[in-house]
Amino acid sequence: MMLRKRVLVAGGAGFLGSHLCERLIERGCDVLCVDNFFTGTKDNISHLLSHPQFELMRHDITFPLYVEVDEIYNLACPASPIHYQHDPVQTTKASVIGAINLLGLAKRVGAKILQASTSEVYGDPEVHPQTEDYRGNVNPIGPRACYDEGKRCAETLFFDYYRQHRVEIRVARIFNTYGPRMHPNDGRVVSNFIVQALNGNSITVYGDGQQTRSFCYVDDLIEGFLRFMAAPSGTTGPMNLGNPTEFTILELTEAVLAKVGSDSKLEFRELPADDPTRRRPNIEQAHRVLGWEPETPLDQGLDRTIAYFRELLEEQGRNPRLVS
Ligand code: NAD
Ligand code: UDP
Ligand code: UDP
Repeated sequence: MMLRKRVLVAGGAGFLGSHLCERLIERGCDVLCVDNFFTGTKDNISHLLSHPQFELMRHDITFPLYVEVDEIYNLACPASPIHYQHDPVQTTKASVIGAINLLGLAKRVGAKILQASTSEVYGDPEVHPQTEDYRGNVNPIGPRACYDEGKRCAETLFFDYYRQHRVEIRVARIFNTYGPRMHPNDGRVVSNFIVQALNGNSITVYGDGQQTRSFCYVDDLIEGFLRFMAAPSGTTGPMNLGNPTEFTILELTEAVLAKVGSDSKLEFRELPADDPTRRRPNIEQAHRVLGWEPETPLDQGLDRTIAYFRELLEEQGRNPRLVS
């Protein structure tokens, strides 16, 4: 009998995780979605709940987990500044203790394991665009440190389990990714601007809006994850995954306002501490090793994301209990 590949997605009810679960099911995998619903919701995966290849487990990865799987994707960690700074001690625990537990699991069952690391490991970068050999400029005691240093320590653990225990690891450094099922209130820039523009509220620009980010559409990123996991043994990374087209935050306001057809005004607010001034991935490694590069331009990705939020806000307008 041919057994289907059993894949654990930790953080599977979140924004990226829900898209990953969907794609894995389409590929014929059995998916075990593990989530504590801190920032993820059942709504993100409600369409998968009755699928025979899908199983949902409420569990916090800071506690041990004994299951039998072939592959593990570790996405379980609050990802937006508002959410990860809400309970910073818990954020570090989710990254560090969570990584230890899932690596221990991978070691016991001989599973491959992919870590959703982040461009935040580069901090406020002095090297531009960021290549994987750049070691970063992170403030270890600032408000972002629980996330940045937690993710850096998780990378250390991944490479030590690889060297010490021969665990088959993949470390992906994800750059700002957006798309449908982003949390409407998690404060990330794309969702914030779209929701503000749709509601006719002013657009909150932090600092002078000249800081840059490079935005990757979710489908492109998930394709990168799948290719990375399937890459030959020993393809450990760390590997940047993101879209190298760089925009200032002011350029993003213009794009969103034009697309929504809104005349919302800009409201300039103080720049948060340690907010990186520039960010753009060098993705030569992903291109060379995985044959991967993003295909969705911001223009198209924004259309799909705006359509999602328009529908969500209409639904919430009809049923205010849905507002979270
Ligand atoms: P998200 O907040 O939507 O998803 C995170 C998921 O993990 C949520 O469902 C949450 O409930 C769950 N979770 C949090 N702590 C947990 C715990 N202790 N145990 C079990 N589940 C837990 O965020 P996302 O954007 O989908 O991010 C997913 C991963 O990708 C995160 O690890 C994040 O750091 C990383 N990442 C995302 C981006 C991005 O732009 N979206 C960029 C860099 C890195
Ligand atoms: N662990 C887990 N599931 C498993 C195996 C291990 O959650 O299937 C956890 C366990 O709690 C342990 C951690 O992973 O503390 C690290 O495991 P490892 O075997 O590397 O270390 P040890 O058990 O020797 O501390
Ligand atoms: N930002 C902004 N207005 C907002 C939300 C964010 O100007 O309403 C800025 C923020 O200061 C940062 C950039 O947009 O420079 C990206 O912020 P986000 O929280 O999405 O991600 P990160 O800072 O983690 O890249």
